[in-house]
Amino acid sequence: MQEGGCLCGRVRYRVMSEPSDIICCHCKFCQRATGSAYLVETLFPKDDLSVTEGEVRTYEHISEGSGKTIYVNFCENCGTKLFLTFERFPAIAGVYSGTFDNPDWFSRTSENTQYFFLSEATNGTVLPAGFEIFHEHYWESDGVASTPQLYKEHTVVTPEVKEESDSFAKKHQQANNK
Ligand SMILES: [Zn+2]
Ligand SMILES: [Zn+2]
Repeated sequence: MQEGGCLCGRVRYRVMSEPSDIICCHCKFCQRATGSAYLVETLFPKDDLSVTEGEVRTYEHISEGSGKTIYVNFCENCGTKLFLTFERFPAIAGVYSGTFDNPDWFSRTSENTQYFFLSEATNGTVLPAGFEIFHEHYWESDGVASTPQLYKEHTVVTPEVKEESDSFAKKHQQANNK
């Protein structure tokens, strides 16, 4: 069991399992929603996450990609965002992992951690060697998985790196659609 909470302390939550996946998401939504370069999102079965003190308010955001609603759950008093829930994936919750009391309690390995939306990543962020880096989402379209890149060395995001990723994605999109 692990606990977390918001800045002011009114809202507290706990999770009862290890994260099934960890997504380091560099998309514009996550940049805006964190005010930072990317979101470290830990995914849990929704039933394993519970709010133990206070209550969350929910902002409903329509995803540009899917047209489905993303629920951003936050503390009304201090504005800290705590977790996401999804119309599209109703059994899953995604925690804003910086809100864990100990944000290092889970390990981040190339087996459980993936990087999304290099296409929108800000210049100067670093992509670690050996991890799956997706140009956009894991899903290219419904039921079709995208092809990730694996860098041999830690790579700093630059306009050239994003262009190269764009060509890689286009090439593999054609291959996947054959
Ligand atoms: Zn708060
Ligand atoms: Zn994102």
